[in-house]
Amino acid sequence: MSLRLHDTLSDQKLPFETAEPGHARIYVCGPTVYDYAHLGHVRCYVVYDVLVRHLKATGTRVTYVRNITDIDDKILARAKERGEAPTELAARFAEAFHQDLARVGNLRPDIEPKVSEHLDEIRDLVARLIEGGHAYEAGGDVYFDVHSFKDYGKLSHRNLADLEAGASGRTQGDDKSKKRNPADFALWKGAAEGDVSWPSPWGPGRPGWHIECSAMSMAHLGESFDLHGGGLDLVFPHHENEVAQSEAATGKPFATTWMHNGFVEVDKTKMSKSLGNFFTARDVYERVEPEAIRYFTMTVHYRAPLSLDWTLDDDGNVTGFPQFEEAERRVEYVYQTRQRLEEIPESRIAEDGTAPESLNLRAGLVRTLDDDLNMPQALAQVAEFLKAVNELCDAASRKKGKAPKASVTLARDGFAALEAELGLGVEEPRAILERIRDRRAAARGIEPGDVEERIEERRRARADRDFARADEVRDALAAQGVELHDSPEGTRWTMR
Ligand SMILES: [Zn+2]
Repeated sequence: MSLRLHDTLSDQKLPFETAEPGHARIYVCGPTVYDYAHLGHVRCYVVYDVLVRHLKATGTRVTYVRNITDIDDKILARAKERGEAPTELAARFAEAFHQDLARVGNLRPDIEPKVSEHLDEIRDLVARLIEGGHAYEAGGDVYFDVHSFKDYGKLSHRNLADLEAGASGRTQGDDKSKKRNPADFALWKGAAEGDVSWPSPWGPGRPGWHIECSAMSMAHLGESFDLHGGGLDLVFPHHENEVAQSEAATGKPFATTWMHNGFVEVDKTKMSKSLGNFFTARDVYERVEPEAIRYFTMTVHYRAPLSLDWTLDDDGNVTGFPQFEEAERRVEYVYQTRQRLEEIPESRIAEDGTAPESLNLRAGLVRTLDDDLNMPQALAQVAEFLKAVNELCDAASRKKGKAPKASVTLARDGFAALEAELGLGVEEPRAILERIRDRRAAARGIEPGDVEERIEERRRARADRDFARADEVRDALAAQGVELHDSPEGTRWTMR
């Protein structure tokens, strides 16, 4: 494998190595399902989707595990608010999460373990840590003793003394009095009277957040696996604690490579619900093609922050997302180009001739993604490729012009690679192009039926050799932003 990835643990770009040759075992922290997916989720899971696609496209078998956190304080609180069973609320949002991510073209992970189905594994791991002297019971809770693990801090590159100085200022009340050390963290939280709870040897309660990912990743991938990923905000404390409790329990290295993606930011601060600068995926899917959002997330490196802009009217209502609209034009161009390629008639394809290297998108994408999944560079290659495909189509449409078969074949394979590697261009061109066009038309108050009528009027004028009238119709449509494209199959229209 020639893939190199930036590893958080070593803070270096290293060759990605798998313990079992040709098989990558990957765990990515999944959502806590108490609300709809937001743009931060979309970005994060597109990154890991591209990782998985790239590995598969280059011949690696992948086992991709992503959990669903369906037991959590936020879920319990929201369910109580709404008078709904926590399991039902979680199941509903898990289903919505799947739908929202499928719409940006993400593949489902191979295994999606739920916390509610792994209580045994979680309790076993907690018991193992207590037995090994790494955890202790305190008033119905169980805590991990950070001093029992000498490498605590190695993932986030922090030292325990500094952490404890910070943590002692933060912890208050019961929590503080129960813990032996300020940086200790809960593996099991005892339930208060009336709380939803699960039985355990330490009394009724629920698992801490960190322990669930250790228990579920080990249950499905073994005690050591190849790659663990998630958002940059998970490095500390979530992943640091996962490393500590997992390696303390097993005595083995937990994950070999640690991969973290940057945030979606607004005005240089993380997009978050509490700041009110927050958009769900569904908010924006109403305005642009979900694939445009996928494309937009790839315009900056996955490790860098992705800065989001939008426009407002005088009353403060959101009127648009210029970056998504620009990305939608790029996506539209991908499909228009593919449609042109597909429509080159057989009679215009020549047996002889060679293909230029600019059409070899597959080789370019493999090389570029091998370098720490450099998606912005990959999109630059896609742009070059589309230009070359259009030149090929232009050549075939010139009088007596032909496209070499080798070029057409390589260009078709380029679109296959675009889907396999980046998950772009996955739809049938006509359907998505019409949707984009009709949404833009609707935004300007243009009825598709009216445009079709004008096109028919122009066709009749041309048939009658009334070219002045035909041009008048074309110009009137152009003034509304409607562009006509004539081809042997008839006239198509697009919106500028
Ligand atoms: Zn996790």
